[in-house]
Amino acid sequence: SQTLLASDPEVAQQVKNEISRQHEGLEMIASENFVSRAVLEAVGTVFTNKYAEGYPGKRYYGGCEFADVVENLARDRAKEIFGADHANVQPHSGSQANAAVCMSLLTPGDTILGLDLAHGGHLTHGHKLNFSGKLYRIVGYKVRQDTETVDYDELEALAVAEKPKLIIGGGSAYPRIFDFARMREIADKVGAYFMVDMAHFAGLVAGGVHPSPVPHAHVVTTTTHKTLRGPRGGMILCKQEFAAGIDRSVFPGQQGGPLVHVIAGKAVAFKEALQPEFAAYAKQVVANAKVLAEAVAGEGYRVISGGTDTHVMLIDVFQKGILGSEAENALHAAGITVNKNAIPYDTNPPMKPSGIRIGTPALTTRGMKETEMKVVAGWIARALENRSYEGALATIRGEVLEMAEKFPLYGWLRQ
Ligand code: PLP
Repeated sequence: SQTLLASDPEVAQQVKNEISRQHEGLEMIASENFVSRAVLEAVGTVFTNKYAEGYPGKRYYGGCEFADVVENLARDRAKEIFGADHANVQPHSGSQANAAVCMSLLTPGDTILGLDLAHGGHLTHGHKLNFSGKLYRIVGYKVRQDTETVDYDELEALAVAEKPKLIIGGGSAYPRIFDFARMREIADKVGAYFMVDMAHFAGLVAGGVHPSPVPHAHVVTTTTHKTLRGPRGGMILCKQEFAAGIDRSVFPGQQGGPLVHVIAGKAVAFKEALQPEFAAYAKQVVANAKVLAEAVAGEGYRVISGGTDTHVMLIDVFQKGILGSEAENALHAAGITVNKNAIPYDTNPPMKPSGIRIGTPALTTRGMKETEMKVVAGWIARALENRSYEGALATIRGEVLEMAEKFPLYGWLRQ
């Protein structure tokens, strides 16, 4: 019964480093967040030892009585949050959730119509090296070059021409709200299934500040660790008629034993998402993003599509002669973590794209509000301007640390 520190000081040191890194910097990767102490605790439990292939009440292993309770809690809470008929909380990740849906609804060779990866779609919506691009015929819909938003008339024309079996809404770098009702109409017109991957904005739906795809889509997938603020993992929600097929596609289709400790963490996070504080958090995430986008634009940067309706924004830094990769590095040196990102119709390569993607969920979880967002926008602009000056970036890093200390993170882990 040795502690981690005694048993493996090398790993323990990296955990300690990571705790400090998360506390001392500003985490602005749009897909990241900070789980609560309760979620962390649940994920670190002895449920990691348990095999529980199957579903509650129908397992292939003995001793699942407590695992059953936990999985039922997670499923029931997920259904309550999103008003869904059915929830499968077993996917190990968002990618596996999407793979399971494709396996359930499609036959290899069928056509998928998803948001083009270069315009904000996710790898699992059709990258050529991903299962999606290898098994299915992928057609990407794009955003318009002038508005940088999805044009639903164009999407409809494309659907009519390409006859997809599945239309996917949602993505990883699209700052606007999708028109779920219109997309379902298009899917119905061409006889396609309609799936929404709400991985990025699930927490905003849960908090009531973003329209829900659940009433419109046949199937909704999500990760549980982004705005939804649970442990790393995936989930599928669907109408009752798809429930048995989806469950079979997750297990035994894609996975063996579920990660019961992670499902415990999902259950805890879903309980949190049902509390009034979570709605306040979600509202603040969007309010912060709006203020941040306006303030960054005020510093002379072009914000893709002119702003955001959600937690995420894309900034065209190349318009100022800066590559996304350079911007990412400069901000990192200043204590601000973001990721380089392609912008629609990017003429630069993926590793040196024209943009950066910024999100507000993690800072909002730390308690930061509009006032802090304005300060952060100033730092971003200063860091980008001074990207070649190590001293200037270190000065900003000092100011960042000062603010970080005012919004402490995981204090009990740093003692
Ligand atoms: N779907 C979308 C829209 C995402 O943004 C992501 C993650 O970036 C995923 C799916 C995949 O999730 P995971 O990384 O858990 O496989």
